[in-house]
Amino acid sequence: MQQGQPAFRAKQIFDWLYGKRVSSFDEMKNLPVPLRALLADHFVFHDLETLETSGSMGETRKFLFQLSDQELIETVIIPAPRRKKNTVCISGQVGCRFGCAFCASGQKGVVRNLTAGEIVGQVMEAAKELGGRPDNVVFMGIGEPFDNYDAVMKSVRILNHPDGLNIGARKITVSTCGVVPGIERFAEEGLQVELSVSLHAPNEQIRSSIMPVNETWPMAELMDACAAYTEKTNRIITFEYTLIKDLNDSVEQARELVQLLRRFPCRVNLIPLSPVEEFDGECPETETMQAFFQTLENAHINTTLRDSKGSKLKAACGQLRSRRID
Ligand code: SF4
Repeated sequence: MQQGQPAFRAKQIFDWLYGKRVSSFDEMKNLPVPLRALLADHFVFHDLETLETSGSMGETRKFLFQLSDQELIETVIIPAPRRKKNTVCISGQVGCRFGCAFCASGQKGVVRNLTAGEIVGQVMEAAKELGGRPDNVVFMGIGEPFDNYDAVMKSVRILNHPDGLNIGARKITVSTCGVVPGIERFAEEGLQVELSVSLHAPNEQIRSSIMPVNETWPMAELMDACAAYTEKTNRIITFEYTLIKDLNDSVEQARELVQLLRRFPCRVNLIPLSPVEEFDGECPETETMQAFFQTLENAHINTTLRDSKGSKLKAACGQLRSRRID
C-alpha cells in the first residue's frame, strides 16, 4: 500500500503489532486517526481462535487453533520449570505431505501452507498465555518447514527482529525431515538459527521404510547436504532420532549411526516413540534406549535422551494433528 507515509510509521506499526501485541488499529495510539482508519480499511487482524486447550499451567499445554478459513492447527507450550524456560512448538502447514509412518500430522497429506502471520500468530498467542514472550521457538509442529520455505523464513525474521518479538536467532530451531534443497537454501541465509534434521534411522533401508522422503532425497544425499551446511555455516546440526522397538534401537544400529555421523560435528536427540493410532511401533525398553544412548556417548557424539514430554496429551513429537483432540 503506497500512501506516502514517512518510514518511521512502519516501525511504529511493527512495534504495535509484534512488540506490544495489540489486536486493533485503534489501539495504535501514536498513529494519526486518519492513518488508523486507512489501515482498518485495507487490513484485518486474523487472530487465531482457540478452540481447545489441554494441559494445565506450568505443564505441557496444547492448543487447537482455528484459522480464518476454519482449518485447524496445533501449537504446544513446553515448560522446563527447573530452567524457568518455555519452548513453543509451532506448526508451519495445515497437514503435511511427507507422511512419516510414526507421525499423525502427515497421515492425510497437506491441506495448505500457513502464512507468516499465522505462524507468528501462534507465538503471539503463546506469549499471551505465558504473560511474556517464550524463550525458545521450534518449528516442529504440523508440517515440513522447508515445504513452506518463504513464509517460514519471513516468520523467523519477524520473531527475531529487535522491534518484533526479539527472540534470539539461536533460540529458534527449524526442523526438517530431510528436504535437501531447503537445507541448501537455509545454508545461504546467514542466520544464526538452529537447524535440526529428523533422521530416525541408521541406514537407507530403515529410513525408507518409515520416511517416504528418503525416496526423493536418500540419506547419502542428505548427509552430503548436512556436511556442506556445517562447513558453510560453522553451525552444528541436531539430528532427531525416534527410538522404535526392534526397528532402529539396537546397539549395532547405534554403531551404524556413529559411522554415519562421524564426518562432521553434530548433536543427537534420542526421542522415545510416542504412540499414534496409525503406527503399530512401540517404544523400546528403558535399558535398550540407555544402551543406544551410551554407544553414541562412548563415540563422543553429544547425545540427549529426551523425555517424551506431552505424550499423555498427544502433544509429543509426531502426535499433533489438524483436528479436535480425541
Ligand atoms: S514428522 Fe514432520 S515431515 Fe514427517 S509427516 Fe510428521 S510433520 Fe511431516
